[in-house]
Amino acid sequence: MYVILLGPPGCGKGTQAKRIEREKGLVQLSTGDMLRTEIAEKSDVGIQVKEIMNAGQLVADDIIVGLISKRIESPDCSQGFVLDGFPRTLGQADALGTMLEEKGLEISHVIELTVDDAAMISRITGRFTCDTCGAGYHDEFNKPRIDGVCDICDGDRFSRRADDNEETVRSRLVAYHEQTAPIIAYYGDLGVLRSVNGMADIEQVAAELNEVIG
Ligand code: AMP
Repeated sequence: MYVILLGPPGCGKGTQAKRIEREKGLVQLSTGDMLRTEIAEKSDVGIQVKEIMNAGQLVADDIIVGLISKRIESPDCSQGFVLDGFPRTLGQADALGTMLEEKGLEISHVIELTVDDAAMISRITGRFTCDTCGAGYHDEFNKPRIDGVCDICDGDRFSRRADDNEETVRSRLVAYHEQTAPIIAYYGDLGVLRSVNGMADIEQVAAELNEVIG
């Protein structure tokens, strides 16, 4: 199964993609995570994209398509994948269509998580992640059971993303509406688009997504 999760930053794509990976065995492909790895490794791509990401702008299509086309060649992707944060432009959507066609594959579901922009700022600026296992938390909406200790692995070191500050989040939302929102109509025209209310709590969103993907 090949699933695309669409929606603005903070809509819950990453949380739900990780859950789908755990429960359904589809590999989560997050272009944001791939870029953050490139930055941490100080690779050529990492050096090129760091400032762009910190400004909340989109990285050029050729870099992103290069990363994804290499990643989907890996054997683990043959079980299926859930795309989180890709495609983000019409150019990327076209490139994805071509990549899948060449492999004789088709997108199974494109699901848009609909949210209220105003709520996204506090959702994003409060989030943090366990350094050891990657579990996601939020200062207000999803705190660890014991303050400072990860529920999943007992880790006690956490990080916040450099681009999760209010100014950058505002730019990321502008980029979403200008460059990414048009692909919702694109997938609507292909007849594969479904919408799920991303404002509901995590379990409710999970249940609705499971209804769509089975
Ligand atoms: P995310 O982790 O999905 O929120 O992405 C973080 C940042 O990485 C974005 O604000 C962009 O700067 C960059 N990025 C991630 N995925 C893409 C993509 N598909 N196209 C362009 N830029 C991307």
